[in-house]
Amino acid sequence: MHEYGLVQEVVLLLLKKLQEGVCPEAGNMEVVLRVGGFAVHSVAATRQAYEVLTKDTPLESSRLTLTISPVTLNCPGCGYQETLGDDQVDPHDPLPLAECPRCGQVGPVHGGRGVESLELVCD
Ligand SMILES: [Zn+2]
Repeated sequence: MHEYGLVQEVVLLLLKKLQEGVCPEAGNMEVVLRVGGFAVHSVAATRQAYEVLTKDTPLESSRLTLTISPVTLNCPGCGYQETLGDDQVDPHDPLPLAECPRCGQVGPVHGGRGVESLELVCD
């Protein structure tokens, strides 16, 4: 599964932070994660991966606030810009293209592929 690799990296990073003494009271932790639109297929799958991968770790009880950055089409022909849903673009495509709904020209799609920001908040 695509999400697992990404979430695994995030979880390892967070566990390292905890080992370094961030959030000594591991009671109420919030993990704020923002990932690029090409990095994951769905919020649900990412959450599920997080749940599975944090099980039996100090992060098990943490809350995950997940934001997925939109993927956008910038038409080279008419300048039209559109935010695409995750079902409109194949994240595995190394050079994703989409057809402009206004003029029909095919243009490149822009979006992030990795973790854009990660924050560990503790109360
Ligand atoms: Zn266009």
